[in-house]
Amino acid sequence: MVDKNTNENLVKKLAQLQEKYLQSLPEELTYLEGLSKTLQANTLDALTISTLHQRLHKITGSAGTFGLPKLSQMSRSIEQRLKNWQDQELETISTVHLQALCEDIEELKQNMTEIESTVHSYLPTKQRPSFQEKAEHIWLVEDDPFLGQELSAQITSFGYEVTLYSSLKKVETAIKQGLPDLMLVDVIFADENKNSTDVLRLMPEFNARHCPVIFMSALDDFQSRIQATQLGAEGFCLKPLDVPRLMSKIEDIFAKRTAPVPRVLIVDDDSNLANHYKLVLLSAGMEAEVLENPKDILQVVMSFNPELVLMDVYMPDFTGPELAGVLRQHENWDSLPIVFLSSETDLDKQISAMEYGADDFLTKPISDSQLISAVTVRILRSRQLSALISRDSLTGLLKHSAIKDALSVEVNRSERSNTKVVVAMLDIDHFKEVNDTYGHAVGDVVISSVAAILRQRLRQYDIVGRYGGEEFVVVLPDCEIDSAYTIIEELRVHFSQVKFRHNDFFFNCTISAGLASTSTFEGSNGADLLIEADKAMYKAKQLGRNRVVIAK
Ligand code: GH3
Ligand code: MG
Ligand code: MG
Repeated sequence: MVDKNTNENLVKKLAQLQEKYLQSLPEELTYLEGLSKTLQANTLDALTISTLHQRLHKITGSAGTFGLPKLSQMSRSIEQRLKNWQDQELETISTVHLQALCEDIEELKQNMTEIESTVHSYLPTKQRPSFQEKAEHIWLVEDDPFLGQELSAQITSFGYEVTLYSSLKKVETAIKQGLPDLMLVDVIFADENKNSTDVLRLMPEFNARHCPVIFMSALDDFQSRIQATQLGAEGFCLKPLDVPRLMSKIEDIFAKRTAPVPRVLIVDDDSNLANHYKLVLLSAGMEAEVLENPKDILQVVMSFNPELVLMDVYMPDFTGPELAGVLRQHENWDSLPIVFLSSETDLDKQISAMEYGADDFLTKPISDSQLISAVTVRILRSRQLSALISRDSLTGLLKHSAIKDALSVEVNRSERSNTKVVVAMLDIDHFKEVNDTYGHAVGDVVISSVAAILRQRLRQYDIVGRYGGEEFVVVLPDCEIDSAYTIIEELRVHFSQVKFRHNDFFFNCTISAGLASTSTFEGSNGADLLIEADKAMYKAKQLGRNRVVIAK
């Protein structure tokens, strides 16, 4: 989370960057002045014109960001003139032209102190979306002790932390101290002769802060439903409860809140500017890194795995489009969104840059809030697209080919970082019987529940996919085989405790799993590792199912 201190810290760092920029500016402008005088005094040479043009181009792009929009505009107009000079015969440039150039550059110097104080006004008060490793905390408010215990155990199986309150009085006291991540509340409390909807409605501590609530009731009456809606309830479930469906509802509620933190790689030779962008994106709750050396682009993209690259167009060694071309040569990165950021306003130039595989073009100087919203919109759009392509519609997990790709990326990464990867293959036991006995729709609920448990109980950086009908693959990066065994074994036990329902009949399901680690199968690639995990899974089936076997 970006708390108040972190935010103050960012403001301080941004101010330091601006300070650094402003300090370097007089020297830079004096240098440019010198160059213009050289042009005026000596014979015109193309190299000096080009250097002057490049350095002005940089100022056009950066001055606005550091509080000097007027300087940026002036610089743009001189830069434009120099660009025209580069395209024409040098003889046509007269002494009058040169005199005007010197004067204009001198005027730049006079304007470098007109700083606008609005630079840091953007810093969002909004908190960074939480990226939790910790289980969400659910309060269960239920006066029936048997149902309370049972439901609490079931919800715990899905990987949530549960606190059970058996009376409205107790939960009222607790609410005064603070709220959990979600509340699951029975409506009728007969012993207290009260409805929970009436009690919550009158509690300022509850109404002041947003806590998602799902009501449960044995009685489907209109009055309770209206009151629940008025309280902003996320759901109203009838008893007897269908736990897997309830859990998928809860998962949806949390999924909306815990979208992953966007990662942005910034490529700009102007390190002050690059670091400014970085701080702005950090302040908006994103992760951002600056590429220090263009030659490292592939390694950095591989290890940082950005969702978007913000790329300067003109850089001294390689141009933005050239670097984009290098990324596009790699299958893994051929659809990584690249947004060019340049003071280039010439539409033809922009279009030709996009032919190299850029997805968009932003014009410098860009305001901090524009940068944040431009980056956010593009990342969300690309997430939607890639989810459509790579996610399974029933479970939201990665599809067959996407999980295989993810596995090989992780195996390669582990070789470089000298860590271990474990892959697990999981398969629901006797699943055909579930379909045959209860119908395909109930079978689908069972499949979704495995997915929900996997998502909820695994670490954020573990990767989960639906490999086939009722088969799942889990990739556990940076994980020793013993811990992997503990994790998957725990999953197995929890899943076996989940109660599924068909009409008034309840039943349980189990899974079998096989694990294979890169520490056992050194040097093998993702596909080989998967075969070993699959063999181990079949062994688990042969040994009687409902167990986890490690490939040896
Ligand atoms: P085992 O314990 O050996 O794994 O036995 P099994 O019955 O689980 O294995 P089998 O591979 O024979 O059956 C898998 C079944 O899963 C067959 C197929 O109809 C069913 N299935 C595949 N995809 C889906 C799906 O999306 N939804 C539902 N409901 N069933 C599916
Ligand atoms: Mg099966
Ligand atoms: Mg199967």
